[in-house]
Amino acid sequence: DISNTIDNQNDGCRTLPLSMHVGFDSLPDQLLKKSIKQGFCFNILCIGETGIGKSALMSSLFNTNFEDSPSTHFLPSVRLRAQSYEIQESNVLLKLTFVKTVGFGDQVNKADSYLPIVDYIDAQFEAYLEEELKVMRSLFSYHDTRIHVCLYFISPTGRSLKNIDLLTMRSLDSKVNIIPVIGKADSISKTELQEFKKKIMTELVTNGIQIYQFPTDDETVSEMNTITNGHLPFAVVGSMEKVKIGNKMVRARQYPWGIVKVENESHCDTVKLRRMLCTNMEDLREKTCAYYELYRRCRLEKLGCKDVGPENEPVSLQEVFEAKRLEFFLEMERKEEEIKQRFVQRVNEKAAMLEEAEQQASMPVYLEFLCQGRFRVNVRKMYSLKGLSSTGEQAAQGSVESQYLEVFKR
Ligand code: GDP
Repeated sequence: DISNTIDNQNDGCRTLPLSMHVGFDSLPDQLLKKSIKQGFCFNILCIGETGIGKSALMSSLFNTNFEDSPSTHFLPSVRLRAQSYEIQESNVLLKLTFVKTVGFGDQVNKADSYLPIVDYIDAQFEAYLEEELKVMRSLFSYHDTRIHVCLYFISPTGRSLKNIDLLTMRSLDSKVNIIPVIGKADSISKTELQEFKKKIMTELVTNGIQIYQFPTDDETVSEMNTITNGHLPFAVVGSMEKVKIGNKMVRARQYPWGIVKVENESHCDTVKLRRMLCTNMEDLREKTCAYYELYRRCRLEKLGCKDVGPENEPVSLQEVFEAKRLEFFLEMERKEEEIKQRFVQRVNEKAAMLEEAEQQASMPVYLEFLCQGRFRVNVRKMYSLKGLSSTGEQAAQGSVESQYLEVFKR
């Protein structure tokens, strides 16, 4: 305690009593206050076929109406639609962005369906990197759009994963935290569901797809997370409507034979998913930063930046920048010279072509002119001697001229 230290050092001196506790143990409180004031952001990407229940699940998870106009099955390519909301719980503000795929799995050729999703995730990393590299950057107030978690919706077929699922998850597993979920899980029986879950996990392992594992190194959540990792993929049910059961309104789906309660853990895993997302939000955000670091490293290396030289000697950013600038200027100079040379060469070629064409064109025209004049005179003489009409003379003239032209052309 600082007050005691000061007391001991100044033995015998008069000290003022402190009006409040002073110590750096208040640092976590300061951070907490600042974070609460700033709010938190969390971005979720939902990938799945059109109508698999992405919007309904999001509404159920965050008890907010995320319903938007139903997407059609006739889009020529996959697109991503983002919606942002601010949700408040107690005094904590969460800026939630929900991004969902539209048109996923609706095309005849699905080979490239994953590309727009990869591009979207990369574009968010790129935007963050651009902000980071700015001279006047403001990362504190920057709206971070990097995807923290991807809920991958698997169709409740009870069979195996589709090619599009494997392809998409494989191309994303090094960029984002993937949590696989079985959508519309109320359409599959309980025993079939357990078998289906096992089959999915085996297929993911055999195809080398890395999914997000809830962390087990923190002892406060280790037990719960270990159990939950065994429940993956989550079998989820979503609903936009609330049904009155007893004197409570609950999110549920009503069928002629009964009611599926979204919040009932024996009916589905929706509550488990919500609990896991909330308790591991910070871990998901941290892992996203790790994926971003990977992206940043590759991007900067491509730009020619490196921390060490060929002999492991440290390289300063300034040196790298200067070298790059010089390289760029030399390249520009080389290109400029190349363009100049090409231009001169083309001008010379054109000039030679024109000269040749001029020579070729002037000779026949001149000869033609001479010959045509002589024959015109001759024809006119012949016709006047024979006393023939001027129309006959013109026709004869025309045929003679065309014959001469033929000769010159040859
Ligand atoms: P999205 O296109 O993936 O966002 O799908 P929506 O959330 O708009 O849902 C499409 C339709 O499926 C709607 O009629 C929903 O009521 C229904 N639906 C959503 N979730 C579930 C579910 O868990 N089970 C069943 N059976 N239907 C669902």
